[in-house]
Amino acid sequence: MKRVSLETPTSRRPTPTTAAPLTRGGRSTAPAALTGLPDRHGRIATDLRVSLTDHCNLRCTYCMPAEGLEWLPGETLLSDAEVGRLLSIAVTRLGVTDIRFTGGEPLLRKGLADIVAHASTLRSPEGRRPGLSLTTNGLGLDRRLPDLIAAGLDRVNVSVDSLNPERFAAITRRDRLADVLRSLDAVAAAGLRPVKVNAVPIARWYRDDAPALLRHCLERGFELRFIEQMPIGPPEEWDRSTVVTAQMLRDALTDGGFTLADGAQPRGSAPAELTAVSADGLPDGHVGLIASVTEPFCGSCTRTRLTADGSIRSCLFAARETDLRELLRSGADDEAVARRWQEAMWGKPRRHGFDHEGFAAPGRTMSRIGG
Ligand code: SAM
Ligand code: SF4
Repeated sequence: MKRVSLETPTSRRPTPTTAAPLTRGGRSTAPAALTGLPDRHGRIATDLRVSLTDHCNLRCTYCMPAEGLEWLPGETLLSDAEVGRLLSIAVTRLGVTDIRFTGGEPLLRKGLADIVAHASTLRSPEGRRPGLSLTTNGLGLDRRLPDLIAAGLDRVNVSVDSLNPERFAAITRRDRLADVLRSLDAVAAAGLRPVKVNAVPIARWYRDDAPALLRHCLERGFELRFIEQMPIGPPEEWDRSTVVTAQMLRDALTDGGFTLADGAQPRGSAPAELTAVSADGLPDGHVGLIASVTEPFCGSCTRTRLTADGSIRSCLFAARETDLRELLRSGADDEAVARRWQEAMWGKPRRHGFDHEGFAAPGRTMSRIGG
């Protein structure tokens, strides 16, 4: 595979002569000297989610409207070299240890393998290479996988909400379940471990779908994680009273013949609470529950997010974001970019506040932020 170098000479870049505003809609109060990406509530972000595109080839009801969205204008998207530079800054200056590529659908980004290859050359000041993973709907992944593995990809999460082809098509508005399952098997065959499967449970169907998905995953040694639906898609698609909660899932799995261990493993900074499960005739395993709505884990969040158009979001639900694109394009040096990133993260809200009166969903939906 021919690779394009994403390295850009930055040491010779001049510092901009005019100060750009620090944040959209806010003023930084970060201390002058910071190490890494701490926030004022004592958390330190080490886990970077990079959205590589806002485009997608599915239209999951909870994420995008049927007609799609108005796509971000091409000139506002970061180039591969700009993404590469920000990844370098994140790993070499800001303490980022894990990078997850997402979207929209990250497989739609032409330069994905080149970006992964660049990321795999990066080292922290202590000499550590970042962990590199991908969250994808899986369409076309079986064909792209060899290149991505050669580029240095370590792990993949594939999203599948139902194993029933009609329901899958109703949820994603595309009849592509077979393609997704083929990709999932290709990930397993390629030896990437753990193979993770993400599923958003749908109120009408989860009592059937959740046990079926868990069975499928345990049989193949995949790690299934259910994600409570969050208010970050089309507003008419979210109603707190119809969210399938982690507790409803535990009940549905128990009713479906699974025994769930009492208590979950300590979660650390991972969003999924892992519970040991067993069932007759199946290998033992775990199920993950990401209960962002009913059991929020904001206090241990270690995430920082970069959007495809170059903004830092300190939280999926942050009311504001910080543009790095114009700073990059104005010729700022790495130190200035890193400082702006730190300022953005310093202002990370304590919690997402779904359950607070006056909660306002963010201006961007999930596919534009990067899930
Ligand atoms: N297109 C890729 C995919 O679907 O895996 C990557 C981007 S997608 C936004 C990332 C994850 O966010 C998926 O697992 C998807 O199910 C989840 N997601 C999207 N909208 C959501 C919502 N409103 N609530 C909870 N999870 C959501
Ligand atoms: Fe596309 Fe992923 Fe959103 Fe589904 S969840 S519409 S696959 S970005």
